[in-house]
Amino acid sequence: SGARPAELARTRTTCGYCGVGCALDVLTRGEEVVAVVPAHDGPVNRGHACVKGRFAHGFRTSPERLTRPLLRRGGVLEPVTWAEALGHVARGIRSAVAAGGPDAVAAISSARATNEENYLLQKFLRTVVGTNNVDNCSRLCHAPSAAGLTAAFGLSGGTDSFDDVERADCLLVVGANPVEAHPVVGARLLQRVLRGARLVVADPRAIGLAHHADVHLRPRPGTNVALFHGLAHVLLAEGLADGEFLRRRATGLPELAALLTDYPPDRVAAITGVPAGDVVAAARLYGQAGRPAIVYGLGVTEHLHGTDGVRALANLAILRGAVGTGRGFGVNPLRGQNNVQGASDMGALPDLLPGYQRVTDRAARERAARLWRAEIPAEPGLRIPQMFAAARAGDLRVLWIVGEDVCATDPDTTRVAEALETCPLVVCNEVFLSETARRADVVLPAASWLEKDGTFVNFDRRFQRVRPALDPPGRARADFAIIHGVADALGAALGCPTPAAALAECAALVPLFAGISHERLDREGAVCWPAPHRDRPGEARLYRERFATPDGLAHLAACPYLPPGESPDDHYPLVMVTGRRWAHYNSGSMTRRTRNLRLDADDRLDLHPDDAARHGLLDGDPVIVESRHGRARLTARTSREVAPGQVFCAFHFPASGVNTLTSDLGDTVTSCPEYKVTAVRLRSAASG
Ligand code: SF4
Repeated sequence: SGARPAELARTRTTCGYCGVGCALDVLTRGEEVVAVVPAHDGPVNRGHACVKGRFAHGFRTSPERLTRPLLRRGGVLEPVTWAEALGHVARGIRSAVAAGGPDAVAAISSARATNEENYLLQKFLRTVVGTNNVDNCSRLCHAPSAAGLTAAFGLSGGTDSFDDVERADCLLVVGANPVEAHPVVGARLLQRVLRGARLVVADPRAIGLAHHADVHLRPRPGTNVALFHGLAHVLLAEGLADGEFLRRRATGLPELAALLTDYPPDRVAAITGVPAGDVVAAARLYGQAGRPAIVYGLGVTEHLHGTDGVRALANLAILRGAVGTGRGFGVNPLRGQNNVQGASDMGALPDLLPGYQRVTDRAARERAARLWRAEIPAEPGLRIPQMFAAARAGDLRVLWIVGEDVCATDPDTTRVAEALETCPLVVCNEVFLSETARRADVVLPAASWLEKDGTFVNFDRRFQRVRPALDPPGRARADFAIIHGVADALGAALGCPTPAAALAECAALVPLFAGISHERLDREGAVCWPAPHRDRPGEARLYRERFATPDGLAHLAACPYLPPGESPDDHYPLVMVTGRRWAHYNSGSMTRRTRNLRLDADDRLDLHPDDAARHGLLDGDPVIVESRHGRARLTARTSREVAPGQVFCAFHFPASGVNTLTSDLGDTVTSCPEYKVTAVRLRSAASG
């Protein structure tokens, strides 16, 4: 009755789905999102966005949003006040520390959370509790990139800006399906190919980009290292390596050259299933290009020897002098989640402080201790899989999980659920009552990315602002406020009263980020790290003068090929690969609660028509998938995208149970799960 309709407001923020980091304008009227408009001046997206960033915002007003804290009483989660919930968590932490010491407490931080929240949580664990037991979900995706790229080049990030990759004349895209998983990057890569760049795709599946490839290499899952060594063998054998670069700026050539004698194309063909002629053709394309670039994804990292895969891939760029020289665009991981780079940059890792400074390094610890006015424990803490093992063994008494649905997305979820059931206090910050939150003792309702203030770091090391377009619903709070709330309930002062203050403190601690602040980002839009100076641009391209390794050189790795942890046999004759699809995001907790559900309504099992015929399966048939670890129910879909003997599915619908199938085997260096190789068998669900 005469009330004026609320005015349209426009908020510039950064997409909270994938690691591309599209800049978006969120248009709101009152509490309603009217539209999400991709920003024309977005440095990565330049006016584009995908079906997730642009349309998947309806979850915000879902009636299933958590709006009040919940506490388990008599086996049931009941609504309580914030004071009751935070008091319960504080008492739990206090009694866990009294009974088992600080290491009886652990936290899983989040790539969904802002940098400032990650910074604050690791600071809480290290200074208030006194443990390094903090990790983030990069453990499950790009931990091998962090380890492999740091060992090869010195820093834990892609070597070049994506703008440079776009000037490449040969793209080697490995183990990534950017057209579906990172659509804005996928479109930009495709544009580059349509304008004449040569394209080599290495992927077991005939993904969209593969149809445009000059050569499509289809290695058997788990044989990447042999394939990359085969390419390196040809580079050396055909004189395509950059001798001068190798003499001046690299080390490890004699050892690698000796190893590569074992990887001629015909042997590589026998291991990988890739025809020897294709290995040679791909190596020549990459080797003869003037500006070659490597872009890769989780098909490289999520293996028993994922770090070796990253190192063997980095070998190719080093052999060609295609990194740190401007004669090529290095090695660039496509990060999965919006802030997976930032969560690690901020030190939400059990062995690394903010800015990748080792907790075992006394000088680094002392620097942090001076700033934080607290002792920092010197022993590295537990990794995520070790946290679950410690919980099952009765050694972990409090597990605080911030925004990760570990019971849906971690491998071998039956064992994860056991760990949560055994742990005396599980605390979960969540937007929805996820599979994990359902099993928690305390559920703290959290703000989504549309309701937060802070920053994310995207896949090419770009800090960008995240701004709240709306208030969190009901009594939900940003993780930043929740972490402060727990510290307050313990009577501890964390400092950093605002997200801007948290980033300022991190910048004071870490020279790599010293020139970055909210105020600068508000002025400039985006800044890449390293950015040691406030008045100079960040370094989008790394290693112009020297590599960041202790000796300043790029390090070649002579790591032999070792077989995957899981192999098919008579009982489990097929190999399952998991990945993402276009319309949904990870556990799907947000995208499933939007109209994107109409685009994709279940987790399908893609299988080759020959395998479908052998199992008597038709399109749309329900199918039971069994592995050595568990059982899932999916819908069969025949597809020539997958090779005979392999099947593919996503994990966007936790009810289908895909991650009960995957094993808890992990990368020997980083514990990143071997999601890309699971031996399975099928039977028609219709046959009972
Ligand atoms: Fe961009 Fe990724 Fe968001 Fe899509 S999901 S809009 S590609 S950041």
